[in-house]
Amino acid sequence: MKQVGAALLLVEDDEPARRFLSTYLGRLGYRIDSATTGQSALRLWSAHRADLVLIDLGLPDLDGVDLIRRIRAESNAPIIVVSARGEEHDKIAALEAGADDYLTKPFSTAELNARIRAVLRRAAGPDADASGRLELGPIALDVARRNVTVSGQSVRLTPHEYELLKVLLSHAGRVVTKGRLLRAVWGTAYSDEGHYVHVYVNRLRRKLAAADGTGSVADLIVTEPGVGYRVMHAPAVEADQTRKRSRIVAKPR
Ligand code: CA
Repeated sequence: MKQVGAALLLVEDDEPARRFLSTYLGRLGYRIDSATTGQSALRLWSAHRADLVLIDLGLPDLDGVDLIRRIRAESNAPIIVVSARGEEHDKIAALEAGADDYLTKPFSTAELNARIRAVLRRAAGPDADASGRLELGPIALDVARRNVTVSGQSVRLTPHEYELLKVLLSHAGRVVTKGRLLRAVWGTAYSDEGHYVHVYVNRLRRKLAAADGTGSVADLIVTEPGVGYRVMHAPAVEADQTRKRSRIVAKPR
């Protein structure tokens, strides 16, 4: 499906990668502005804004994380980081600075397209629908009643488990750092207690799986090693097959 007309600002200093991505994304119907440095990205941003920003962290003049912070200070536009840096602390720094998602090179075009669509969908409207329901696959969370069901079966959750699921569902498709989950569910005093999240996520997976009967619902909560968690529609196996079929882009450098 073509996303018609969303304006993308692509910040990438690697010439072949930039050319390939602008051609690919242009064919999908996006309008592309591209920049090779942080300063030119900021100039383009001030002149046109954009519906979405794609940022390579390793830029010649400015740290990509600073660029994220400066854009985020004045806009809620979705930001996806595209980088050869695969280190956990780089991912966390970018996400905490306000990036919505992170792709490590090499990645597939299908994966990039899926991430772009997920963040644009989120930006287009409120996360819960008008009735205050958050849904993902067989999981439904009713915000007003504080009630969770899996395939219509009620699931009994503790207040922390419920809040954790709510935060994950309201960020469907996007990675949520452990720090962000801790602050949202347990409060700022707990920001160093990363193991809480791990324990609670596993408990949540077990409860959801027990209600579902097949257990496959637990796979909807995906671990992003060292960084955090993401809930998503496509089971991991399917995503892997897509990755094999689609073209891998942007070699690490
Ligand atoms: Ca670079």
